[in-house]
Amino acid sequence: MYAKSVFCLLSLVCYSVSSQTIYVEPKSPTPEQLDFLKKYGYLPEVPPDADAAYTVSSMSEAVRKMQAFAGLPETGTLDDETKQLFKRKRCGVKDIESSSTSARSRRYILQQSWNKRYITYRVVNGSSTLDKSRVEELLEKGLAVWAPFGNLSFSGIEQGRADIQVSFVSGDHGDGFPFDGPGRVVAHAFPPPHGAMHFDDEELWGDNPEEDDEDVTDFFAVAIHEIGHALGLSHSNVKGSVMYPYYQTPVESLHWDDILGMQELYLQDQEETAVVTESPGSQTSLVPRFTKPGSDEDENYMPDLCMTNYDTLQVMNDKIFVFEEEWVWVLRDRHVMEPGYPKRFHDVFRGLPANITIIKTIYQKQNRNILIFSGQNYWEFDSTFHFIKKGSLSDYSIPDEVPELTTVFLSNYNNKTYLIEEERYWRYDESAGRMDERFPKEMSMWRQVPYPVDAAVVWKGDTFFFQGPRFWRFDNELVQAHEYYPLPTAQFWFDCESTSDMDRYITNDGP
Ligand SMILES: [Zn+2]
Ligand SMILES: [Zn+2]
Repeated sequence: MYAKSVFCLLSLVCYSVSSQTIYVEPKSPTPEQLDFLKKYGYLPEVPPDADAAYTVSSMSEAVRKMQAFAGLPETGTLDDETKQLFKRKRCGVKDIESSSTSARSRRYILQQSWNKRYITYRVVNGSSTLDKSRVEELLEKGLAVWAPFGNLSFSGIEQGRADIQVSFVSGDHGDGFPFDGPGRVVAHAFPPPHGAMHFDDEELWGDNPEEDDEDVTDFFAVAIHEIGHALGLSHSNVKGSVMYPYYQTPVESLHWDDILGMQELYLQDQEETAVVTESPGSQTSLVPRFTKPGSDEDENYMPDLCMTNYDTLQVMNDKIFVFEEEWVWVLRDRHVMEPGYPKRFHDVFRGLPANITIIKTIYQKQNRNILIFSGQNYWEFDSTFHFIKKGSLSDYSIPDEVPELTTVFLSNYNNKTYLIEEERYWRYDESAGRMDERFPKEMSMWRQVPYPVDAAVVWKGDTFFFQGPRFWRFDNELVQAHEYYPLPTAQFWFDCESTSDMDRYITNDGP
């Protein structure tokens, strides 16, 4: 009770909005309940030791929001029904995105689609109670439920990197969102272009279990929800929708709210593109018909370098190149932007085919030529960006079955070129013009380095690896990443202030 009155003394709101505080239950939330409210976006995050900064009214408001989202009476107090919510099985993805994030970056982080119709998926493993082939069948069934509403087509692959990668993992599994053992959080998934879908392997996963069997979690019911995230949908507060965050069974089909979400993400753009492409001659007259409010804004849309995952980075001509979507930024030094950037990379690398819409793999050879890889081909430019020729991965003796390389870099340690495909890599000797023997090797040889890596660069003598919004520095002597990494890329490489929003984004690039 003493702590309680301190809350009130510190808070003017508490006294000035007395009507709100009348309903506040004398008991404060437990630390677990407080964590829940913060984790799912109902309470603004504060440093761990500053929980006392929450006022009674902000706490009550948070509880009210949580009740509203779950479809419970909005009492603002921790009644029994509300307390049950804290313990229920649910998805680990946030319910409410921080309101202080600007609308644009929020949309960017959350609401993006795959921007294509054909999407691949891969089941990496099964769970201890559900074998991989059954997981594949159930996932396929779930994808088939979503497909028609986005005019999408899914195909399963056995190897390599799929758009949607599905795996069973437990505890801390390396993405910054550790699972919590049996119960409560059972799964989470990342929106495009990440697309990973993780299921907590400590749950007892079942195939259509008895409805009253609380110990067993129905895989299909959870998978169909996580597919929604992997397609770019956020949580819905509409009870009965597939995107409702709490575990519910049985789920057979999409709710109108899920369908609306899919239309917004996939169908509107497809319709516009289809009509405009069909009549190229009359494009200008057609465009106004399809101009929606806000589309001017879309034309000027540019990703925020401080709040994103990066398609790739590379050091070329002793400058740092950063690629994200159709843009390239160039920095002379960390934090020092080259004037005139960002530019569209197609305006820099003229001669690159228009169907290359992002650059994920690029590097500069010893002779200073620049290679951009896409699929099984590469495009070679000189160091002043003049197009030279197109080549194929087979020029590097990369086997035909490799669909694409994820990262290529030239090591200053041994002057060899490392060609990385997701979980394995080859080493190429440029001066001898051949692949070194006994490759490929596993990426796990690079200890403490995450994979697949988005980028590997050599900067001022050090080797750095990048994945999502984070980077690692590699120690060539110890053959492992330095232990105080990863660090956030935005603040260490670009001119980005460290804000609480950004800190949250760095540890929160998905769920
Ligand atoms: Zn979810
Ligand atoms: Zn995960």
